[in-house]
Amino acid sequence: MRFELVCSMTFSGPISQHLEDISKILAEADEDLLKRGVPKGVEGGASVVDVSYGEDEIELKIVSDRYVRAHDAVLRLKKKLSQEMGRKHHVGIRVVEIVSYEVTFNIASEPEEPIKIPFAEGISFDGDMCRLKIGKLTQEQLGKNYVDRMIKRIKEKVDAQFYKGKGEQWNLLWRSEEKEMNWEKDPTLEMEKRGWIAKGPTKGKWFYRPKAAKILRIMERIAIEEVMDPLGFEEVIESMMVPFDTWIDTGHMAGVPNEMYYVSEPITRDPKEWEEFVDHIKISKEVPMELLRKLVSEPKSGICYAQCPVVYWSLKNQTIADESLPLLLYDRTVPSARYESGGRHGIERVDEFHRIEPVYIGTKEQLLDLKEKMIERYRYVFEEILELEWRMAKVDPFYLQQAGSSEDEQDEEGTIDFEAYLPYRGDREESEWLEFQNLSIFKKYTESFNIKSQTKELYSGCSGIGLERWASAFLAQKGIEPEYWPKRFKKYYGESPKGLKLL
Ligand code: ATP
Ligand code: ZN
Ligand code: MG
Repeated sequence: MRFELVCSMTFSGPISQHLEDISKILAEADEDLLKRGVPKGVEGGASVVDVSYGEDEIELKIVSDRYVRAHDAVLRLKKKLSQEMGRKHHVGIRVVEIVSYEVTFNIASEPEEPIKIPFAEGISFDGDMCRLKIGKLTQEQLGKNYVDRMIKRIKEKVDAQFYKGKGEQWNLLWRSEEKEMNWEKDPTLEMEKRGWIAKGPTKGKWFYRPKAAKILRIMERIAIEEVMDPLGFEEVIESMMVPFDTWIDTGHMAGVPNEMYYVSEPITRDPKEWEEFVDHIKISKEVPMELLRKLVSEPKSGICYAQCPVVYWSLKNQTIADESLPLLLYDRTVPSARYESGGRHGIERVDEFHRIEPVYIGTKEQLLDLKEKMIERYRYVFEEILELEWRMAKVDPFYLQQAGSSEDEQDEEGTIDFEAYLPYRGDREESEWLEFQNLSIFKKYTESFNIKSQTKELYSGCSGIGLERWASAFLAQKGIEPEYWPKRFKKYYGESPKGLKLL
């Protein structure tokens, strides 16, 4: 990695009498100040390779490597020059301006398509080298590490081109026995025909009438009584609106902004301000969108996408007592909203769904042990109560394998998907199975939310128990007639609700 920067420094007065002093300060800095941070025994750091002098300014060319970023070198020099020149000659540095800034670094391989990122003036490639011309950045932006993040983003985009379409790495961990299927119909269509469910009032939502609502609630009860309670998980109730900075910390804001539902607040609650809006509605029976746009603010939060971010938020900068570890919490109050667009199907891929999300925080050993216990309880539910044909697979996005983590780390961290066979989708071996829940362990969230223990390093994780997905898997295999359902599930379900008959 090579940084090449040209900048000008303007002093508060003429400097033509002091050129010798300046040149001496720069020479000394080159020996010591600009080499600080370079590991012992390594050649490197920043160097001033060219200086030109004007009436009250100097122009410097600085070349550096990854140990000392050239823009850091500029800040160090500015401070040093101001101090020394101020003390001796009563002139300080008034303005520092970056004239040009280029970084050259290695990438995996030359991308096929051009790459663009904000704040860059130009990006060019030559084999596995990238040359980035940095545009106008303020001192604050430079100090905030924009340059490093720009380099990282370019590398990500290069990798993304390479892995395009590869999705994720999928490795089968375990597969249940083949089970006999009770039918091959799509349960959503059949429930809709019978009036158990109705298409919701907006896209990708459903209205669950009593018979179907009870199925989801029974799934929830089973998950709580057979998995959460026996393992000692305790319930929390969280907010359904998630501020952007929380999603920046979890990575959702950059990862899935195209799937979020955004929330706007009214700009004012003053009825007077809304009067004209109300007049329009009363007269036209339509919402005056132009007016509405002026009366609501731009979003600063969104509707829950997954419940774990707000649990992490609630523990931000906290230290958890050893006696509370592993911390085992779950939320089942807040529904999740995702803009699934063209992917929507039935009740299994919807824009609003209901999940129980257990979130766990503890030492690596505690969580690896918990993972085994959770899988054991889940296995009991899927085998003995729902009697599903299902399987578990380890899934990792391809880029994770690139991130340089060892195989051991990949084993500990990462996600297990639980998938069920859906006979209405076709052949067992050929068709796509449905992910009906998952289970993950991560190191990054305790880091990004600065959640600490008294002594040990903390890991965290979550498991998304999708009630619509549990129901879809079960109904697709077992049918919607209670008389054919497995014994233990039937016992849980009890009497069928009376429901309603529509004419
Ligand atoms: P998919 O690959 O099916 O989109 P995902 O990887 O987006 O799933 P996660 O974010 O891991 O899902 O969420 C965990 C769980 O939440 C899933 O296993 C599933 O039970 C549920 N879930 C996710 N998206 C939906 C949806 N659109 N409709 C219903 N349930 C969902
Ligand atoms: Zn989660
Ligand atoms: Mg998804």
